[in-house]
Parts: sequence; C-alpha cells; structure tokens
Amino acid sequence: MNDDAVAVTPGYLEQLNPAQREAVCGNRCGEPGNDTDAPLLVIAGAGSGKTNTLAHRVAHLIVQGADPGRILLLTFSRRAADEMARRVTRIVAQLAQEHRQLSGVSLPWSGTFHSIGARLLREYAGSIGLDPGFTIHDREDSADLMNLVRHELGLSSQARRFPLKATCLAIYSSAVNTRSPLGDVLQQAFPWCAEWADELKNLFAAYVEAKQAQQVLDYDDLLLYWSMMMQEPALADAVGAQFSHVLVDEYQDTNRLQAAILLGLKPDGRGLTVVGDDAQSIYGFRGATVRNILDFPQAFDPPARVVTLDRNYRSSAAILAAANAVIAAASERFTKDLWTAREGGTVPRLVSVRDDADQAGFIVDTVLARREEGLRLKRQAVLFRAAHHSARLELELTRRNIPFVKFGGLKFLEAAHVKDLLAVMRFAQNRRDRVSGFRALQLLAGIGPRIATRILDNLRDAPAGCDLLGEQPVPDSLRPAWRTFAALVENAGNPRAPWPAGFDALGQWYREQMERLFEDAEVRRADIDQLLRIGATYPTSERFLTALTLDPPDATSDEAGVPQLDEDYLILSTIHSAKGQEWGAVSLLNVVDGCLPSDLATGSAEQIDEERRLLYVAMTRARDHLDLVVPQRFYASNQAGGGDRHVYASRTRFIPNALLGRFQQVSWPKPPPGLEGRPESRAQAVDLAARMRGMWR
Ligand code: ATP
Ligand code: MG
Repeated sequence: MNDDAVAVTPGYLEQLNPAQREAVCGNRCGEPGNDTDAPLLVIAGAGSGKTNTLAHRVAHLIVQGADPGRILLLTFSRRAADEMARRVTRIVAQLAQEHRQLSGVSLPWSGTFHSIGARLLREYAGSIGLDPGFTIHDREDSADLMNLVRHELGLSSQARRFPLKATCLAIYSSAVNTRSPLGDVLQQAFPWCAEWADELKNLFAAYVEAKQAQQVLDYDDLLLYWSMMMQEPALADAVGAQFSHVLVDEYQDTNRLQAAILLGLKPDGRGLTVVGDDAQSIYGFRGATVRNILDFPQAFDPPARVVTLDRNYRSSAAILAAANAVIAAASERFTKDLWTAREGGTVPRLVSVRDDADQAGFIVDTVLARREEGLRLKRQAVLFRAAHHSARLELELTRRNIPFVKFGGLKFLEAAHVKDLLAVMRFAQNRRDRVSGFRALQLLAGIGPRIATRILDNLRDAPAGCDLLGEQPVPDSLRPAWRTFAALVENAGNPRAPWPAGFDALGQWYREQMERLFEDAEVRRADIDQLLRIGATYPTSERFLTALTLDPPDATSDEAGVPQLDEDYLILSTIHSAKGQEWGAVSLLNVVDGCLPSDLATGSAEQIDEERRLLYVAMTRARDHLDLVVPQRFYASNQAGGGDRHVYASRTRFIPNALLGRFQQVSWPKPPPGLEGRPESRAQAVDLAARMRGMWR
C-alpha cells in the first residue's frame, strides 16, 4: 500500500456518502488492514451513484498504487468506457498535484466485453489456434453467411418453409449466449422452429466450419472463444494475472458467458467488483440473465461483500416518485426504492397528442422552449422503444434546422455505400472473408456473382500469402481495372503499410465507382469522407475495423449533417442505448401499448416485465423534466401484409389509472381560447374508451 494513501484518501471521498465510500474502499475506509480486494457487489437503483462509485473505486485503486495498465474496466458501450475513463482521470487529477506519479493516468484496458475480447484473442491467437488476422462480422454479415450456408445445404428449398436467416442466427446466438442445449432454446423461445432441430444442428455445424475456414469471428464468438480460453487453466492464469483488478458496470445485463469469463479471470473473486441494478435489466432478449447479479455473492467462499445504495442523486422527487410507482408493480425485484433529498420539482407530464405529426410538433416546441429557458439541446433527450419511432421527428427536426444526433439506430453504418467501403477494407485485411469479398468484388464494373465466386474459391484454395490477387481470372476487358483494384487491396491489407494511407486510397477508388453505383452519389460521398476521417483517428486498420464493427459510430442524419463536437445538438436515442446516462429534460415517445410494451414482446410474463423495466430505465434518465407522450393513434406496419395502417392507441398498461396521480395530464396542441372546457380537449382525463372496454370485463 502506498504510504501516502491514508493521508490522501479522505479528501476525495468526502463527496461520497458512507455507503458509497464503503463500496470504494472497504468497510473501514483508509484504515490499515482493510481488505479492499475482496469480491464486491454494488447493487442499487437508478441514479444512486453506482457508476460514479465505480469511477472513484478505480481512482482509489490507482492512488493506492495499482498500475492503471493492469486494471480491466468492462462497460456496456464504448461511449460508457470513454466517459468512465474521463471521470477517473478527473478524480485522479485532483490529487495529481500532490502526487506527481498520478498525472496523465490512462486506462488502456477499458472497453466493452466484446472489444476487450477481440484484443485478448488477437494477443493469444497463437496459443489457441486462431489466425491473429481474423475479421469480425457484424450481425448483418453473420446473417448473410448463415444464409449462404443455409443455401448450400439445400435448406432454403424445403417444401415446408425453413426458418429465415435472421431467425437461424437468433436461435444460434441464443443457444451460445445462454449456454443452453438447442432443444431447450427452441422449446422456450422458438417453439415454431422445433420441428427443424436436426437441420438447425447441421446448419450451425456448417456455419461454424465456414467461419473457421474464412477466419471470421462473429460477435458471439468473441465471448465464446474468450470463455473457452478461460477454461484452459494455464491460459486463464496468464490472462487473469495480466489484471490486478477487474471491474464491471451494468452487470445486470451480462449473460452466462460473460459471468463465466469473469470467474475464469478471478476464480476466487479477489480484485473483482461488479455493479448493477436488477430493476434495469433490459437485455434478456439477447440472453442476458439477472441471475448473474443475484447469484454473484454466493459464487465465492467467503461470499462477496454486498453494498446497497438507497439515495438517488439524479432525479427530482416528483420524477423519482413516478418512476418508483411504475417499477413497484414488477413481479420480482431485489433493489429497493430510492429516496432523494431533492424536494419537489416539476411533476412529470403525460402529454396527449393526436398522432405522430403532433408528437413531433410537440417535441420540437418543447425542446425549443427549454432552450430559450437556458437548457442546452445537449442536456435534452428524446427517447423511444424502437429506432424507427423517431422517423417523423427526425424529419421535423431537419425541417426546422435543429441539429440532432441519434443513438441506437445504425443508420450511418447501414447505408449501402458505407457497407461497401467497409467490405473492401475487410476483404483487404482478410482475403478469405467470403461475405466481405463477395460484396467487394461485385463493386467492379463487369464482375457479377459468378466471377466473384470463382475468384473467392481460388483465394480460398491458394496457399497462405501467395494468392496472386492481380492474376485472378477476369475477362480481358476488365484486366486493367482489376489490376488497379488488386494493387490497392494488397496495399491496404499489408500490415506494414502506413495507416490510413491505404484506406484513403481505397476510399478514393470507391468514390470513383459511386457515380455508376448510385443515382445520388454526391450525397453519399459525404458519408465516405466522414468514414475516412473516422478511420484516421485509429492507430491501425485492425483497431479501426474492430471498433467500427463492435462500437458503431453514432448514427447521423444525412440531412442534418454531423454536428461538430462543440456545436449544440439534441439527443435522440433508443431506451436501450440510453442506459447509464442522464439529461436535464427527457421526453419519451409513443408511451402506448403496442410500442411500450412493444407488441413484439408481449408473449410471456418475463417479456412484459422486461418492457416495464425499459419504461423505468427511460423515466430514470431525467433530472428535472420528464414528458411521456401518448399519441391517440399511430401508424403500425401491418405484418400480415397490406401495408401500413392507423391504429388507435391506448396509454401503456404500465401506467394504469391508479398511477395517474403521479403525473400532470396535458393535451397538445392547446385548445383555442374559449374551447378549453370542451370535452374533446380533455380526452385523456376522461378515458371513455377504457370504460367501454371495462363493460365487458
Ligand atoms: P444508473 O443506474 O442510471 O446507471 P448510477 O447508479 O450509475 O445510475 P450515476 O450515474 O453514477 O448513477 O450517478 C447519478 C448522478 O448522481 C450523477 O449526476 C452523479 O454525479 C450524481 N452523484 C452520485 N453520487 C453522488 C454524491 N455522493 N453526491 C452528489 N452527487 C452524486
Ligand atoms: Mg450507471
């Protein structure tokens, strides 16, 4: 222990409350003999300072002498990792004047499970039979490969309809992440596919073989390989010893593979800290299990220390009361209600609007009014259950010239031209990657699926490093263009070539193809330039491609352009992507049954509970203002065919009449003067529709 530690500690712990302080440094802060490294769980509700406490704990460890290069900090998104690193640096910087060795601290091992997994797998590739040059497929690439294999096995031409590629991938992913036998997964989550169990097993076996032949890992593989590596005692020891401390935020949203990885890294739990809130567990649909956090203490002997926090520092009393009331109806819950010292505050509003267009109008008016009052756009967020819920609002914001950034939609990366250039770059990095290669080769004029397949077959069969790309069989008329392309690809894929020069050259080549490929090439070129700029901020092509696949840059709107960092812009985000964050004012769109809960997630009681927790997560992002918008009708895409239709909506079931007292009910637009008393302007106050339905229950 650092001799100065006792003298330094109290200063920066003063801002924390006693329970937070205990979480930071153990039972007896600053006293000798205190066991800071015992396994620790911090479990507490939203806004109680869990993330803040974790940042203080990291800073505390560093002050105590821990090497920042040996601290592994696992967060849910890259944004969260960056934010955490900033907080730690800030806390440590306060002490740096007294302790020169603390200035300029950086945390090289802070990131998501997936990105850290990718780095460790490359580092240890030689020991586990992986090619260190493996590429990572995003979900869409993985679905494409699944489709290719499905096709090759003849499963797409069955008389009875075999599950589609996305379903196949979801089943595969669910089995991998929950570590459950295929039969169980099918029975529980995909009963309509149960008849295909044998075929699915064959498909998955072939899918795994195809990935290995192409040196490709999908998202799930990053966790799967990492967890399998942790089952090898020698490797587990080596990786575990690399880190003195392992800390995890948002632990409630981890899956069984992630829990197994942590246990492999720190079997006795020493140096391990996890924090989370079971009431905010919202990734069950992807295999996360709240059991991880609930069972954590008993995984060790003696059991882990558990610290609970009960004071909320984020939201006003009125917002907190409404959020507490919503989550109180959950069927199962470990964390307790929170209290706050922030008295009063504006009561959250339930805002009744006619439709989607009015919803957008209301948001824009409110956001602008709040900005007039001094609340910057960046301190305001509009949240929604599904990425497409904000489409109308995006148009309205664009029309009114209000800059915004959208999190959670993958618009930028989904754009065909961005995917094209990334495919070329991935192909350059790994010429056995068939999914990327298939897309990349067909960008050349005159090359279609047949020639592309033949070239990819040749590349697959060639000995490593001698695939003679430029000599591949293409028609004579294409030869010069092909040679140019091959030279650019070889250059960009050369690990010794300076970065990002090779990528820039590919980008220029692609820009020249765009005129032929797209009618609106000019608009799309701006995205390509943006992608090249993003590339230049990474040290190597590999880090760039990994980061882009795992942590997509925040999606942007073509029309609005990418706001500069110092510019003010409104935040649009899915609830899932808003995790862990807070804003002065929060509006939630489409607070109606069918959207929240989503009508895709009302199959089971567990799904409904997860949707309720989503509402809780959304509401607890707000500090001072919270608006829940309830359109009386909205568009729903008609899955049975027949296009879109208007649906009459009712307020979410998670805010039943009994909870209305927690909210102020308003309508927008305000009725013209003189009509205020009219019944139609109080549609939400007197819910006749609900009464009518009630007559039959
Ligand atoms: P979530 O569950 O949403 O992830 P959280 O429990 O991680 O929330 P934080 O984001 O760490 O909570 O903190 C919420 C807010 O409370 C932040 O603005 C933070 O700065 C503030 N805060 C936390 N602890 C204290 C404290 N002891 N004194 C004053 N403010 C605090
Ligand atoms: Mg947090």
